[in-house]
Amino acid sequence: MRAHGIATCFFACGTALACASPPRGDAAATAVPSGADPALAAFIERIRAVDNHTHANSVDPGDRDFDALPLDGLGAFEVPAPLGPDSPAWLAAYKALYGYPHSDLADAHMNELRSTMQRIAKEKGDTFPLWVLDQVGVDVLLANRIAMGPGLAPPRVRWVSYADALLLPLSTKAEAATTPDRAKLFPLEDALLKRYLTDLHLTKLPATLDAYLKAVVTPTLEAQQKGGCVAVKFEAAYLRTLDFDETPAATANRIYAQYAGGGEPSHADYKALQDFLFRYIAREAGRLGMAVHVHAFEGAGNFFRTAGADPLLLEPVFNDPALRATNFVIVHGGGVFSAHAAAMLWKPNVFVDTSAMTLLYTPDHLASVLKEWLSQFPNKVLFGSDASAFGPDLGWELTAWMGARNSRMALALALTDMIRSGDIDHARAEEIASMVMRTNAGKLYRLDLK
Ligand SMILES: [Zn+2]
Repeated sequence: MRAHGIATCFFACGTALACASPPRGDAAATAVPSGADPALAAFIERIRAVDNHTHANSVDPGDRDFDALPLDGLGAFEVPAPLGPDSPAWLAAYKALYGYPHSDLADAHMNELRSTMQRIAKEKGDTFPLWVLDQVGVDVLLANRIAMGPGLAPPRVRWVSYADALLLPLSTKAEAATTPDRAKLFPLEDALLKRYLTDLHLTKLPATLDAYLKAVVTPTLEAQQKGGCVAVKFEAAYLRTLDFDETPAATANRIYAQYAGGGEPSHADYKALQDFLFRYIAREAGRLGMAVHVHAFEGAGNFFRTAGADPLLLEPVFNDPALRATNFVIVHGGGVFSAHAAAMLWKPNVFVDTSAMTLLYTPDHLASVLKEWLSQFPNKVLFGSDASAFGPDLGWELTAWMGARNSRMALALALTDMIRSGDIDHARAEEIASMVMRTNAGKLYRLDLK
């Protein structure tokens, strides 16, 4: 079967789920959430979606490129109930995707299911990801990965690369010591920067910042764009706070030159250099026509610093006139800071997606978030799932299905409410649903949607 390289930029169950007993429950999916207008729900069900954020696996059984910071190395941590081992959502996904006929997950039944999963994976071969997209009603899927892989190719699968490693050319030893989780995550970024250097046939860092920008940062971004990237992603909130200040070039030059050859920069110096590099990368991404995705959510991990993931911290970046040619997406909608994300939608170049919230929030909860966003900036909201593999028997296709289903349900609830309170009519509700599920992303990434 395919890789069960666990997890995601976001919450990775790691040991939490992989080692847990199989899920149990008997609730099947309901297409129409109670309280939603059935005609509107049926309309939404038929929209061929664009999924703004996933960690889809390639068909390589050893795939490890699905995330720059796979969290399976962090050890066990709490996973919210909707994705916990006892969540009925897993059983519903088995039924929907694999025609699983049972209402329990007894060993004999699970063995049957495994043979079905293996048979379909084998039959579909390289077309397995496209089969998944067809099952979940997704036309185009953005795959946030270090690199694409077999079975993942345009036009239906588009690449979103990672840019955090480029922020970290100096020793990360002191930064890594700030939390037990970061001690495990920073070495992964160090390894990724080495990989980027190797791709450029470089064996060591240039001696000056100017040379680093010209010989490493820009060529890496250009290669990603040439490779089909529609956006670059920052998982920076796992590593630091999102307040990327303006650093004078002379300061950044000094810090880089002082430590590029070795030594430990102070936190203040390293932050200043990272801040400079973030804005440089964001500007270059804009020049190359790639959006910038930023993780903003409450987790994951045992030591995640949520206050540093508040999208309000990005306001100075969003307000930088030099960055107005760059489009930004607040990935995971800011989570508990969803109202702050809404405030950022005033900026002409800022968007928000629903990924992870679609898996971790109930449809009712997500509907209330959506209502706030959609009543103000319906042209800035994108559907995303954060589909990822969660371990043995828990492939990315299951969360792709859950994310799409929950998102459609939440959207139907939110728009029904808006119709009932007289904010919009049925025709406008259908229009907004199409925008969120499909056309907003189509425009943002200039996808040639039929
Ligand atoms: Zn993710």
